[in-house]
Amino acid sequence: MRPFNHFTPTTLSEALSLLAEHNGKTSVIAGGTDLLLKMKAGLRKSNVVVNIKRLPNLNCLTFNAIDGLKLGALTTLRELTRSPIIFEHYPVLAQTAHIMASEQIRSLATVGGNLCNAAPSADLAPPLIALGASVNLISSAGERRIPLENFFVGPGKSALQPGELLKEITLPPPVGKTAYLKHSPRVYMDIAIVGVAVRIQFEGDRFACREARVVLGAVAPVPLRAHQSEDVLAGQNLTEERILQAAKAAGQECSPIDDVRGAAWYRRRMVEVLLKRGIKSIQ
Ligand SMILES: Cc1cc2nc3c(=O)[nH]c(=O)nc-3n(C[C@H](O)[C@H](O)[C@H](O)COP(=O)(O)OP(=O)(O)OC[C@H]3O[C@@H](n4cnc5c(N)ncnc54)[C@H](O)[C@@H]3O)c2cc1C
Repeated sequence: MRPFNHFTPTTLSEALSLLAEHNGKTSVIAGGTDLLLKMKAGLRKSNVVVNIKRLPNLNCLTFNAIDGLKLGALTTLRELTRSPIIFEHYPVLAQTAHIMASEQIRSLATVGGNLCNAAPSADLAPPLIALGASVNLISSAGERRIPLENFFVGPGKSALQPGELLKEITLPPPVGKTAYLKHSPRVYMDIAIVGVAVRIQFEGDRFACREARVVLGAVAPVPLRAHQSEDVLAGQNLTEERILQAAKAAGQECSPIDDVRGAAWYRRRMVEVLLKRGIKSIQ
């Protein structure tokens, strides 16, 4: 690995000053489970690495019924699998974190790192988008908030500007039921070939859908909302035929690549299969 200067700020303002000072040549490191692999492989060349793990402002996990959830960017995957707040109000996030990586990696890896790495296969992106998450980005110039679905720009690219940090993720109070299903060759320790999140707000019984969100991972350059599929479900009875129609629409809306991990036609087909299973799992 190339040599680099390593800074460990202990306040947010110190971290933001460092990022502003070394604008453009800096890498932020949180858990390091993505970044260090890239640096070792020479895919990321940074003269300066700013370690944000000691910043106290970035590890909150609070909930109230009016504002919903505030999740600091430094929340680890392990914390998601253990938090009573997450279990009670957003169980899909605990379930998703549980199928990511290993216990050792989950102790280091952060929610912010998973999103800022901007891999199309990032497992937390589809369920968080389905839940209506927004991200708060902060720099020495100020703070801004954008919906998470607008945060991803391309493979490995996000809306983060040089000098900017992801501070926290906010979620509205939970509505309806949400599921995330992941397909990968190995059950554990593997990234998704396809990931499908679905959130349904039911109307009365569990067979009528008022509103739906369908979000696909690993089948487009960015995590993708399948709007046509959502429209097929919204305001309809969830019959077998309707679910099949929504699944087919989602398979058509994505643009997967062919690679060693899966052919494009197979990924499309798996989108259909996982969406059907996902809807049935929350009915
Ligand atoms: C063995 C193994 C298994 C894995 N399994 C999975 C899996 O099943 N599913 C999955 O989705 N991922 C998986 N990963 C990838 C990785 O563990 C996750 O993406 C993790 O959440 C990254 O978090 P981190 O804190 O380690 O990020 P880091 O490596 O520290 O950072 C990742 C990127 O985000 C930037 N960054 C981090 N935090 C911030 C912030 N707050 N503000 C601005 N930029 C920031 C960094 O500069 C870097 O570009 C796996 C990795 C390994 C090594």
